[in-house]
Amino acid sequence: MGFRKTSACLVLACLVLSSQAHAGPAAADAAAPSATGVTTLRCGTLIDGVSATPRRDVAVRIEEGRIVAVGPFSPANAGTVIDRAQDTCLPGLIDAHAHVLIKTDDYQVDHLRRSSGYKALRGLNVVQQMLQSGWTTVRILGDADVFYAHLDVRTAIQEGLFTGPRLTGAGHYFSITGGGGDLNFIAPEHQVAGDGLVVDGVDAARKAVREEIKHGSDWIKVLASGAMMSAGNDPDKAHFSPEELRAIVDEATRLGVPVAAHAHSAVGIKAAILAGARTIEHGTFIDDEGIRLLKEKGVYLVPTLYVGDYYLNEQPGSEAQAKMNELTRRYRAQHIAAVGKAIKTGVKVGVGTDHVGFPVKQGVRELGLLVEAGMTPMQAIQAATRVNAELLGWQDSIGTLEPGKLADIIAVPGDPLRDLSQLEQVSFVMLGGRDVSTAN
Ligand SMILES: [Zn+2]
Repeated sequence: MGFRKTSACLVLACLVLSSQAHAGPAAADAAAPSATGVTTLRCGTLIDGVSATPRRDVAVRIEEGRIVAVGPFSPANAGTVIDRAQDTCLPGLIDAHAHVLIKTDDYQVDHLRRSSGYKALRGLNVVQQMLQSGWTTVRILGDADVFYAHLDVRTAIQEGLFTGPRLTGAGHYFSITGGGGDLNFIAPEHQVAGDGLVVDGVDAARKAVREEIKHGSDWIKVLASGAMMSAGNDPDKAHFSPEELRAIVDEATRLGVPVAAHAHSAVGIKAAILAGARTIEHGTFIDDEGIRLLKEKGVYLVPTLYVGDYYLNEQPGSEAQAKMNELTRRYRAQHIAAVGKAIKTGVKVGVGTDHVGFPVKQGVRELGLLVEAGMTPMQAIQAATRVNAELLGWQDSIGTLEPGKLADIIAVPGDPLRDLSQLEQVSFVMLGGRDVSTAN
C-alpha cells in the first residue's frame, strides 16, 4: 500500500506534503515515540481519571504503547512486569499553561540577553524536568523568543532526538503595542523585538495568525488584557478591540487551530469569550456575567493561581515582579473566590502552572490551590488529567487510564487524595508505554 501511495503521488505534491509536516495541530500520538511489546504495570492503588474513587491492586496491561486492559493481575503473557504495588498510579499530568523558555522574573530583559539557540537548550532542560516531575503533556502558551525555540524543542522530541513530554502550544503571545508582550521600559529611539509578538489592527492580526501556524503553532495565544508580570501595562484593562479578537479567532478557526486568551480584566474576558476563544487563562477579575458566559459557551478556565504565591515569597528582583507581588497581595483572595464560584457553577476548570522559571517540582501545588478554591482533591487530579486532555482536544489519546489510551502513567508513594503534596514525590513516569523515569 505504501508503495502504491508513493508512486501515485506527483513529485511536487509529495514535496509540499513533507515540507508541511508540522503545519496545523499535531496529534498526541505524534508528540512522543511509543514503546513496543507487552508490559504489565502493577499498581497498589489506581486513580484512573474518570472514577470517583480509586481502585486497589490493579494491573494495567500495555501493548505497543497503549493500554489494552485494566483489571486483576494475571502472570500469563504479562510481558515485562513493572511492580509499583506500594504506590498510587495515576494518569500522566497535563500542564495546560507553561512558558518553558522563561527562567527569571526579569524575563523581558533576559529575553534580550539570550540567543534563541540558548533558549532552546534551556527549554529542553525545563521540559525534561517537567517530565520527571510527572507532567507527560505540556501546552506552551507562547514563549519569550522571536524564533520559536520551544517549537524546535517539540520537533526534536517528536523525532526521538531527546526524551521529553508531549508538547503542544503557541509560538508567541500576541500583544497590543504597550501590552504585556511589548517592552514598555525601552526609550522610543530604540527598536528591539519584544518577548511577545506585537500586533495591531485586524489585517496584521490575520497575518500574524497565518505566520504562527505556518511556523508550527498548534494554538494561538492572545493577551486579551494587560499582564501581571510585565512592566508598564494594567491587567485590569482589556487589550485588543473586539474586531481584532474576532479576526484572530476567525482566522485561526478556519485553519483548524484553537485560541487561548490570557485575560485578567472582566471586560477582556467577556470579549475573548464572545470572540470564540477556547480557553481563558487567569481570569483574575472575572465577574458573574463572565462566569455565566464561560459555562454557557463551554469555554475552559485555566486559573494559574500558584505563580503569584510563589513570587510572593521571593524578594522582588525586577519591576515586573514587584508589580505582580503587589497585585497578588491585593487580589489573591478575590481571584480564588471567583474560581470557586466558577467551579460551583460547573465551568470546566483546567490546570496550568504558568511555569516561568520557578522550581519545576512546585508546579503541582496548583492543584492544592484549586482545592482551596473549592475542588475536592480527586476533582483537582481529574482537572489536571481528564479535563486538560479534553481542553487540548486529545481526550481520545490521553488523560485517563482506560483501554485504548496511550500509556502515559505516573506513580507516587502514599495517597495523594489524602495529601496532594505526594504529587511532588513522583517516583515513576511512563510515556507511551516507555519507562522514562530515569531517561533524559
Ligand atoms: Zn502565562
